[in-house]
Amino acid sequence: MNRRDHVLNALALGAGLGYLAQPGWDAGTARAVVELAVPVVLGALFPDVDTAFGTHRKTLHNLPVLGLFLAYPLYFGNLRYVWIGVATHYVLDLLGTKRGLALLYPYEREFSLPVGVGVDSRLAGVVTLAVTAVELAAAAVVFADAPELAALAGL
Ligand SMILES: [Zn+2]
Repeated sequence: MNRRDHVLNALALGAGLGYLAQPGWDAGTARAVVELAVPVVLGALFPDVDTAFGTHRKTLHNLPVLGLFLAYPLYFGNLRYVWIGVATHYVLDLLGTKRGLALLYPYEREFSLPVGVGVDSRLAGVVTLAVTAVELAAAAVVFADAPELAALAGL
C-alpha cells in the first residue's frame, strides 16, 4: 500500500480507537483521539523506513520488529500506541500489494495472502477503507466484550 493509504488508515484507526477509549463529544474524547492518532500514524509510517535502510518489506516488516514496539513501552514507558500503527501497516501491505512480507525476518521467506490488490490498483482505496472498517469493528467488539484485552493493549 502507498504512504497516503497508510496515513489515512492510521489516522482513522487512531481516531476511532481514541473515541472507543473515551466515548463522547467532549475535551476528554478529543484528548484521547489525539493521544492515539498521532502515535498510530507514526507507527504506520515506520516500517517503510526500510526503503532507505535495509531491504524493503523485510528489515522492518516483520514480527520481531512488531514485538519490539510491543515491548518498548513496558520497558521504557513511552511509545505506547506505536505498535498499533506498525501492525496495521503490515495488514495493509499484506492486502494492498501482491508481494508478501518477510514476517519471520531474518528468515527471508515472504508470506502473503491469497487475496489482495496491487499498490497502484484503483481498488487500493476501497481495500484501505475496508481494512480500517474491519479493524474498528474488531476494536469496538474488544472494548464492548473484552475490556480487559483493551486494557492489556494499553487502551
Ligand atoms: Zn510497507
